[in-house]
Amino acid sequence: MCGILGISNIENAAHSVYKGLLTLQHRGQDAAGILSFNPRNEKFHLHKDCGLAATVFDREIIAGLQGNIAIGHTRYSTVGKGDKEDLQPLILNHPFGLGMVHNGNLVNYFEKSRDLQEREFRHPLTSNDLEVLQNILSLSLIKELASTRPSPPPSSSEVLITMLGRAVHEVYREVSGAYAVIGILAGKGMFAFRDPHGIRPLVLGKKNHPDEGGPAYCIASESTTLNFLNFDFVEDIPPGTLIFIDQNANLFKKKILAQVNEKPCMFEWVYFASPESTMAKRSVYTTRHNLGHLLAKQITKLREHENFPLDVVAPIPDSSRIAAISLAETLKLPLRELLIKNRYIQRSFILNGQENRENAVELKLSPVFSEIRGKNILLVDDSIVRGTTSKRLVAMMRRAGALRVYLAITCPPIRFPCMLGLDFPSANELVAYKRSADQVAQEIGADKIIYLGQEDLKAAINLPDLCMACLDGNYPVDITASREFQARR
Ligand code: SF4
Repeated sequence: MCGILGISNIENAAHSVYKGLLTLQHRGQDAAGILSFNPRNEKFHLHKDCGLAATVFDREIIAGLQGNIAIGHTRYSTVGKGDKEDLQPLILNHPFGLGMVHNGNLVNYFEKSRDLQEREFRHPLTSNDLEVLQNILSLSLIKELASTRPSPPPSSSEVLITMLGRAVHEVYREVSGAYAVIGILAGKGMFAFRDPHGIRPLVLGKKNHPDEGGPAYCIASESTTLNFLNFDFVEDIPPGTLIFIDQNANLFKKKILAQVNEKPCMFEWVYFASPESTMAKRSVYTTRHNLGHLLAKQITKLREHENFPLDVVAPIPDSSRIAAISLAETLKLPLRELLIKNRYIQRSFILNGQENRENAVELKLSPVFSEIRGKNILLVDDSIVRGTTSKRLVAMMRRAGALRVYLAITCPPIRFPCMLGLDFPSANELVAYKRSADQVAQEIGADKIIYLGQEDLKAAINLPDLCMACLDGNYPVDITASREFQARR
């Protein structure tokens, strides 16, 4: 999962993109990058590096990223080792000059990368799957442009969009996976599209500013970015549709696929997205509130048959806080902060230091002994993946004197890997794989685990369809190429 952002028709677009990236930092902390295009000197300007956006950029760097159009990226690594050449945005010099960022994962990345080498003689320069997508798009667009010869390439945006639309169609045909894409075509404009199932989010915003000759546009992973940058929300970009904003600030919308089967990732609402964002017209905050309420109703039902004692509800910071509020309200139990997060422990320190990832929880969270001692505690969390964090948290609560520790989880058991942009490991590494809730509780050392049911999850998000493949194994895309992807990522 990553954060992506593009802004066009605004002076010093990179400055706005930088500010926008700060609102998308939760979607990826491994690296950040911005690419701008300056129509005055017809040059791209690029800066990217490992780390948080605030450490990758400073005033001077941003001032050097000139132009009225820019795209940016915050990276969460899934494919690739995270080497510098893998960082986004990526640029190709053809056709026109093509810069791109994306959020997602191509399941058939290795197969398509081999195709590009063997059939098109293109040597991969990165291990980022965006390079494959970008090459497929560029090859197809070049063929379209070549078909107009001996006439010169099209000067009108309408003709160019028809050609770009065919190239995007080729991407849809060739690529299997989840992707939201924003790109710059040098001297032509900015474009964006999502995969045919709209698994990854992308929203469009607009701001009128008469001084600059036409409106400015912003395309971003989340609506919180639009609010922050004072853009009005226009819409969630429909899957299967190409958006193009030309250099004169004209917006074009072209339907590429007649029919789409929309299946956004349920995990955006459960965990990933910022609570103040709205996706597919569903508020993330309200959804998390619903998740807590529905889980509380499940717990109430359970306690009719099995009266386990509960004294206090506590969130595991940060993403389960909203659900914990409604859960405590519904159960009529006090809500307490029993784990305090150390905001000054940097992720890079945790991952690069002697302590490995598994020890990170002790560095980040401290128990409040006085509130824990002698209590029956219901800890609320958004999900359990490998179970290592939950195990350590339960042990931490016991060491602090808890009588009993129960876990309420607002996501049903994760039993299948995600190959669509999240770093959920192979099935064998998932603690809930082939285990019942009671067996998971035993494994983790909790007195009980209550998972939200799949039907309640659907009811909380309230959309006609969702990707829930990590819960039920029904992947919305062809995953026949996934074995190689799983083995090599
Ligand atoms: S498999 Fe799970 S995490 Fe991955 S896209 Fe689907 S719902 Fe989201």
